[in-house]
Amino acid sequence: MELKFKSILELIQTFPDEETCLEFLKQSRWSEGEYCPHCGHTKIYAFSDGKNYKCASCRKRFSVKVGTVFEDTKIPLQKWFMAVYLLTAHKKGISSLQLSRDIDVTQKTAWFMLHRLRHASNTKAFNEPLRNTVEVDETYIGGKEKNKHRDKRTKGTQGRNTDTKTAVMGMVERGGNVMAMTVSNVQNNMVQRTVLDNVLIGSNLMTDEFSPYKKLRSYYNHQAVRHSAGQYVSGIAHTNTIEGFWSLFKRGVVGIYHFVSKKHLDRYLTEYTYRYNTRNLSESARFRNLMENCNGRLTYNQLTARAA
Ligand SMILES: [Zn+2]
Repeated sequence: MELKFKSILELIQTFPDEETCLEFLKQSRWSEGEYCPHCGHTKIYAFSDGKNYKCASCRKRFSVKVGTVFEDTKIPLQKWFMAVYLLTAHKKGISSLQLSRDIDVTQKTAWFMLHRLRHASNTKAFNEPLRNTVEVDETYIGGKEKNKHRDKRTKGTQGRNTDTKTAVMGMVERGGNVMAMTVSNVQNNMVQRTVLDNVLIGSNLMTDEFSPYKKLRSYYNHQAVRHSAGQYVSGIAHTNTIEGFWSLFKRGVVGIYHFVSKKHLDRYLTEYTYRYNTRNLSESARFRNLMENCNGRLTYNQLTARAA
């Protein structure tokens, strides 16, 4: 099925009812052949209702939604599809309050839907190591200064205090993908392990002068800009790409989500990295991409469990 919509109106025209949505979900999910979500067996029988299936091996009944982020939902798929569209099409995402108004569900439902979709956007395709020229930087979210943009000149002082703020590390391949994740601290071991886990050894590494990065010289062609000396670009050495990503993320967190708890910060980072990494796709291609990644459910209990 070819998708060409460029607006929410065209999305609704493409998916006018539950049946067309189910058909599309089936195609997205079973693009490489049907299988049982319980045991993986590839011989399944369709019931005549067009909604339910039975596995020839384990004999269990299931719908196409079982094992996806849409499992156990009473929300019509058309509303889910609108949520996927709104989340992927808006550069800074959408708040649960706004989504609840746009698709007429409660805010609690909208909140849960958005977290499930963020969970789906954590695709394996973006977990490949970064290479070539990679900018690495850390930033700090939350705390008293959460409404301020980071002032690089405070580095090494209160700016890196992780008592009240959450440290986030980001890495971006120039012209390629970004990765970002929370870290429990920004000490040598943590910083180095995070970079080594995600950036191919031998790549060009661009950072500022924060000392844990200097320890990576034996693995990478490392260049640092000296922000403390007022230097922001030196030849190809700069961290402007990753800083642009931080600034978009922070404007979104403050402007759209207002407050992000530490517990959910990684999911918001996933949402932002997903949009960044699919920036060259059309809106309908990005919609399809997220739909193809809808496997893996996230229960309400998992979502609301206290952070360890
Ligand atoms: Zn089975």
